[in-house]
Amino acid sequence: MTEREILQNLKRVRERIAAAATRVGREPRGVTLVAATKGVPPATINAIVAAGVGIIGENRLQEARRKAAHMEGKCSWHMIGHLQTNKVKDAVGFFDLIQSVDSLRLAVEIDQAAEKRRIRQKILVEINLSGEKTKYGLARVDVFSFMREARRLENIEIVGLLTIPPLVEDTEWTRPFFRGLRQLALEIDGKEGAPLKILSMGMSSDFEVAIEEGATMVRVGTAIFGSRSRSRER
Ligand SMILES: *Cc1c(COP(=O)(O)O)cnc(C)c1O
Repeated sequence: MTEREILQNLKRVRERIAAAATRVGREPRGVTLVAATKGVPPATINAIVAAGVGIIGENRLQEARRKAAHMEGKCSWHMIGHLQTNKVKDAVGFFDLIQSVDSLRLAVEIDQAAEKRRIRQKILVEINLSGEKTKYGLARVDVFSFMREARRLENIEIVGLLTIPPLVEDTEWTRPFFRGLRQLALEIDGKEGAPLKILSMGMSSDFEVAIEEGATMVRVGTAIFGSRSRSRER
């Protein structure tokens, strides 16, 4: 795919985001686009950053750091893939937001690494609402005990939730999962205080449904860059 086509796709994605928000009476500005750039070369990332995309989502720390060395403009890096505990030390501080925290053990490791660096690391909690065994994320039943424990950790700040619905034939079938994440965030807010402002949900195939159900952050790769060789994580 040429750079021109990619910028055209980006424009189209932005229009679709705005249209989906407007459809349900939301401000398009209330939805942040994260470009999911696994497998995308630095030159292309530079082009979309120049076109105003401020957040780059990567699945692997090494790949993200390698690319960061080639960036011309300023952008923010988010971790959207599974984070192994042995990578935490280097991930903390590099990523402005770690979107994929899926266990208390990982939260504790991040907290300790953040303390050493004297920063407060922002994180999202990844929730597995479908119960699929192949997928990362906390089960719904474990969320409240996780929140109680994790909110005691002073060097992390839990700013929202992330979910990935099952891969389905009809995107309409993803709706209950997005609605479920929003309801879960409201339930947690009611019980635990500090609001979870970010709902990171929606990918190329389903971001419009996610926005209709309250997504404040969508992670889009294929709809911008075309399909790359490495398969997406579902
Ligand atoms: C790859 C990826 C995306 C983007 O998926 P597309 O279908 O290519 O838009 C979003 N979130 C995560 C966690 C991913 O790994």
